[in-house]
Amino acid sequence: MSFSPNRPGKKRYRYRIANAPRFIAVIMLFLLVLTAIFVIAAKSEDEPSQKGAVVVTPIVYPTPDPDPTPPPIDIPEGKVMEPVLVVIDAGHGGEDGGTISPYKEGFYEKDITLSMAEKVAEYLKEKGIDVILTRDGDYRFSASNREDLLTRANIANENKASLFVSIHVNAYDLKYAGAAAVNGMEVYYMEKDGVYTEFTDERFAQLLNDEIVKANGIKSNGVKQNNYSVLRNTQMPAVLIETAYITNKEDHARLASEEFRSNTARGIVQGIELALKEIDAFEYNGDMYVFKEAKE
Ligand SMILES: [Zn+2]
Repeated sequence: MSFSPNRPGKKRYRYRIANAPRFIAVIMLFLLVLTAIFVIAAKSEDEPSQKGAVVVTPIVYPTPDPDPTPPPIDIPEGKVMEPVLVVIDAGHGGEDGGTISPYKEGFYEKDITLSMAEKVAEYLKEKGIDVILTRDGDYRFSASNREDLLTRANIANENKASLFVSIHVNAYDLKYAGAAAVNGMEVYYMEKDGVYTEFTDERFAQLLNDEIVKANGIKSNGVKQNNYSVLRNTQMPAVLIETAYITNKEDHARLASEEFRSNTARGIVQGIELALKEIDAFEYNGDMYVFKEAKE
């Protein structure tokens, strides 16, 4: 209301407070511009040296963080990668001679099986396939048959064998009419929870059967299922081969010949090689490996 009398004072008052913020704002703006100039100046100073570094970097550090080890193999889920190892079991040994020749004194199954097993091991080694013989001499692991057989299976299990082959010689009780005529080979397996997804005990038996027949020309009586201890107690595909009948004269002559034993061993190795192909054995750092089901 009393506009006029207050005017000069008010004017002065308004002048001071109205212009102080404006003054501060001007100074702030000035400082801001100054800061901006410094930042730009600093940046433009950095730029040349950065540009220089960019040129030099690829020459000084061509491969940052070089890794000397080769890239690891991708292990599929639920699998473990283990070295390929074949366990060959020469049936019987020591006090347990196995089947006995009715035609030749001192001609025992245990000696024939060891001789064949040693040949198989030799041929596998030639092909770079690791092998363990359950026994490498004339002995058995226990006076108890049960314990002896369990030990053989455990050798394969403890060494995480990829495949197991037990070599035997058959006999037919000559008390029975026509017994001496019984001849040929049988390959036994027992289907069990395998360490491979698709490769079965039966498939392994079939491969060995076919390759042995091709290699030594023997008549096969077929691939059969049987609950033998070494088949039941091994954790990997396993077979038991009854290579021929010691009670049959023709088979007896075969078993006594180096050629038949070598050819049989060659057939077994051929079958093992095919089996390793089917379970996808692969080379890694010079060694052979397989993927197995991860089990406790
Ligand atoms: Zn036997």
